[in-house]
Amino acid sequence: MSIKVENISKVYGNQYALKNVSFEIKKPEIVGFLGPNGAGKSTMMKILTTYLSATEGKALVNGFNVTSQHKNAQKSIGYLPEHNPLYLELYIREYLKFNAEIYNIDKHRINEVIELTGLTIEANKKIGQLSKGFRQRVGLANALLHNPDVLILDEPTTGLDPNQLIGIRTLIKKLGEEKTVFLSTHIMQEVEAMCDRVIIINDGEIVLDKALEELRKGDEQIVVVEFDYRVEDAFLKQIPKVKHLENTHDFVYEITFTTSKDMRSKVFDFAHDNDLKILQLNQKNTSLESLFTSLTTSKDQ
Ligand code: ADP
Ligand code: MG
Repeated sequence: MSIKVENISKVYGNQYALKNVSFEIKKPEIVGFLGPNGAGKSTMMKILTTYLSATEGKALVNGFNVTSQHKNAQKSIGYLPEHNPLYLELYIREYLKFNAEIYNIDKHRINEVIELTGLTIEANKKIGQLSKGFRQRVGLANALLHNPDVLILDEPTTGLDPNQLIGIRTLIKKLGEEKTVFLSTHIMQEVEAMCDRVIIINDGEIVLDKALEELRKGDEQIVVVEFDYRVEDAFLKQIPKVKHLENTHDFVYEITFTTSKDMRSKVFDFAHDNDLKILQLNQKNTSLESLFTSLTTSKDQ
């Protein structure tokens, strides 16, 4: 059992940040902890990483109780905090060496984590010279130093530009092949891009815990297609299984199909057979998006 959380509550003053939260993560998989700002994600992660104690309930990491066996629990966890505290004046290697020495980790591991996180080319730079994406890599490298089984990553992709986002997502997916990754985000698309399972939290309570595969089994799908010219709706309705279509702007159409099977190749074949030119063709996954909106309320509103 990688993570087991049983009836955890956390009260700050007289306000509940977590209410009776329970969930389990059994195998190496990437689980997204999704919720709007203020939902309680960081609080839960700080409890799991032993930085904060719960008001009530019990949490185990790798079988170790985070309160009574916190040293062993810590050894099992690599943690990337929300505001990753890096020393900007230090060189990457120097920073990792500093942490490796604190935790008595063999020096050769530094090169391993540098390679693993794609920092080899940048390894001799100062942290302050790095982009946000590479700083996150340094944070991940640091979290991986002691080769933990469980990675707890608090909003690892927030604030990254699209290219950095792709790099970090790819890296997290790779790490998730061997380790349990529990990552938080307030952005639904991050879950769709990286996770095997999603746990949605709203106002301190778990409102959904489901495998992405299950969520994708919905019976509808929307394909967004852009042609280089206007196409009649009636003509497009000849594509099999079209339920509904909408010309959203210019020559862009959103086609709803009555199946969850990927229909992009059918749209492509149809266009090809009818001499239509496609400028873009994407699948729009609406199930998780609408679920997230219906299950959560932002405290900022
Ligand atoms: P998230 O990470 O999902 O944005 P947090 O766990 O940071 O949410 O916060 C959950 C709730 O607990 C929020 O309402 C927040 O204001 C409150 N909170 C967080 N930390 C503290 C604290 N140290 N003292 C008082 N309230 C806090
Ligand atoms: Mg947070």
